[in-house]
Amino acid sequence: MDDFCRAIIENVKETIERFSLLKEGEPLFVAISGGKDSLSLADILWRLGYDVKCFFIDLGIDDYSDDSRVTCETFCKERNLPLVIVDLREELGVTVREAKTKTGRSPCSVCGMVRRYLMNVIPLRYGVETVATGHNLDDEVNVIFWNIIRWDIDSLARQSPLLPRSHSRFTRKIKPLCLTYEKDIAEYARLIGIKPVEGRCPLSSGATLLSLKEFLNEIEGENPGIKRKFYEGFLKKRERLEERKVQLKECKLCGQPTTAEICSYCRLKEAVKKH
Ligand SMILES: [Zn+2]
Repeated sequence: MDDFCRAIIENVKETIERFSLLKEGEPLFVAISGGKDSLSLADILWRLGYDVKCFFIDLGIDDYSDDSRVTCETFCKERNLPLVIVDLREELGVTVREAKTKTGRSPCSVCGMVRRYLMNVIPLRYGVETVATGHNLDDEVNVIFWNIIRWDIDSLARQSPLLPRSHSRFTRKIKPLCLTYEKDIAEYARLIGIKPVEGRCPLSSGATLLSLKEFLNEIEGENPGIKRKFYEGFLKKRERLEERKVQLKECKLCGQPTTAEICSYCRLKEAVKKH
């Protein structure tokens, strides 16, 4: 292995230690999508000797989901990592594309909500409390800026390398790549021989936050390291942000914590059934 890859692995290890993301021997799930970030994360945690299981949500988005699924299967087989494939047709009774047709909801909002829901439900089914996601430094900075522009203080207060379990039916969410630049992860994936899925989701326009991303990349280009400095500064300021306390009830249909009588996942499920 070359020095670059070794340095990336070492950085991730330091991130894990600095934010106490994982204890030694603690089992965890990595939510993999077939993209370079989540696959690199699973690879790095595996190389660091963690008890890694992967899960992939098959959203049923045409060839894109099929290709992503095969990519994840190949990746896990090469490393002998256990892989749980969650088929949205079985879980929800409908794919993201069908949900869009039947309920008219934007596929990106359905996809995001469904993934957040399953990220709590699936690992706990296997007795695993911690889920790692492949969010990198650029992702984190983009989201923080987006939340500042809208002054969404609640989301800012939750933006963290570690989201502790706030309920017995919620998992702990960790982001071990939060201090690693996207370009470095791409380089790591290339050097180590990870082949991520090609193309992007056909239901997404890909335009979300595009101008913001370009703007921030331009600033980074002129001031290398500024994103990292900004993120470090945010982590210090974040402690002063207060999250609004919300009253969680149990969903009448599935029991997951929600602020409404019926959670948004079950509401979607019901809406789909009616059609
Ligand atoms: Zn529910």
